[in-house]
Amino acid sequence: MSDAELVLRSTRVVTPEGSRPAAVAVADGRITAVLAYDADLPPGARLEDLGDDVLLPGLVDTHVHVNDPGRTHWEGFWTATRAAAAGGITTLVDMPLNSLPPTTTVDHLRTKQRVAADKAHVDVGFWGGALPDNVKDLRPLHDAGVFGFKAFLSPSGVEEFPHLDQERLAHSLAEIAGFGGLLVVHAEDPHHLDAAPRRGGPRYADFLASRPRGAEDSAIAALIDQARRLDARVHVLHLSSGDALPLIAAARAEGVRITVETCPHYLTLTAEEVPDGASEFKCCPPIRESANQDLLWQALADGTIDCVVTDHSPSTADLKTDDFATAWGGISGLQLSLAAVWTEARRRGHGLEDVVRWMSTRTAALVGLDHKGAIEAGRDADFAVLAPDDTFTVDPAALQHRNRVTAYAGRTLYGVVRSTWLRGERIAADGEFTAPKGRLLTRTP
Ligand SMILES: [Zn+2]
Repeated sequence: MSDAELVLRSTRVVTPEGSRPAAVAVADGRITAVLAYDADLPPGARLEDLGDDVLLPGLVDTHVHVNDPGRTHWEGFWTATRAAAAGGITTLVDMPLNSLPPTTTVDHLRTKQRVAADKAHVDVGFWGGALPDNVKDLRPLHDAGVFGFKAFLSPSGVEEFPHLDQERLAHSLAEIAGFGGLLVVHAEDPHHLDAAPRRGGPRYADFLASRPRGAEDSAIAALIDQARRLDARVHVLHLSSGDALPLIAAARAEGVRITVETCPHYLTLTAEEVPDGASEFKCCPPIRESANQDLLWQALADGTIDCVVTDHSPSTADLKTDDFATAWGGISGLQLSLAAVWTEARRRGHGLEDVVRWMSTRTAALVGLDHKGAIEAGRDADFAVLAPDDTFTVDPAALQHRNRVTAYAGRTLYGVVRSTWLRGERIAADGEFTAPKGRLLTRTP
């Protein structure tokens, strides 16, 4: 057996080859070997016997709005990374907007890194932002280590982060493709949104009608055209419309470099069940009908959708008014994402291996974090220990999020995270946390 300081043993270890009884040896924060369950312990190694709890690679959530600095009363690095750790997430990548400043210049990136440095309970990376007027900043941000660039094709919800029209999208995308970068896109077509009925008020059906599937489908079609023309790499954020899936599958089949994510709320909540006035369920694009949700699950199963990320985007409770037109749009679910997805996945006959592929392996691959996202020798010893058959009922008061308004309140979910490990150290267990041990990550050149 190889040298190791620590061995974690479980009857169910989720590896890239499937789940099996195994002993995972760790030294210097990395996995050194995945051994037979009953392998002899190396001299001096400490054994952590997890029994029948499942050992998963720590989740990698590439879509989180931490909002720090500037809107730290909405969330913040301290609270977001504790919530992540409590939920089995060991790496998050922060979105460039809702913080002040937004991550749109190298100076702003440095500001955010300074703020995050001593608060990160898990590893933290950063997306940059592509705005109409910052094309000159994209290459320096890429060189400074952001994982890619986010753009909106329709208004973002905050005035300091304006969206790109098709001409500016082409300009930014050409620049990004020129240095081999990745553009991640909020894809709703503003012309479709303008043409949709906008009634406002507390009825969820009215809100849903104001953000039709066609707005997503049209924006994605245009994005595919630009990606094809420029041979650029693009990623569709938070896909909600199942009608866009055939477009995406066809584009990929002809070689367009496009990947797609969806979110726990689209996979587990439905329009039919959103109570009127309940704007904790408001996000853009919106949670749609259950028939649409079935299409998303089918696409996860057949690989058209690559991955699942939270799009955790909280605000203070006062902005979650009962008028869907003006309430803040964003779902708060960071700490609950694994349990929410697992609960619905198991009901639909999927295994934890699938959940790991969607929420860890493929998200790590999306941002090029080759040392994360799987339990195999050479990768970081980042783990979640999960009791998959245990249930809990979501009590907002028990969440680590700064603001505890959540669409999942009162739901009973499968999958209790017993502990979370970062580079071989247990950082969270039973609502207790160590001092922050997370590192700030940059893109691997
Ligand atoms: Zn988002």
